[in-house]
Amino acid sequence: MYLIFRCDCGRAMYSREGVAHRKCVCGKNIQVKSRRIIYYAEDFQSAAEAVRALQEEKYGGTCFTTANQL
Ligand SMILES: [Zn+2]
Repeated sequence: MYLIFRCDCGRAMYSREGVAHRKCVCGKNIQVKSRRIIYYAEDFQSAAEAVRALQEEKYGGTCFTTANQL
């Protein structure tokens, strides 16, 4: 089982169940248990897929606006 959660910087990421800490690309060390779990995934593939969807949800709108202005 994989857990999907967000860092304070807003980046979505996943961690295998049972892993206590996860380091975000922003440099913050996340204590997995202290985060609100957004989503549970059965395997690595669906975890990666869920993270990708969450990233698009957050940044997709901005990209669309930028592309629209071109
Ligand atoms: Zn972060």
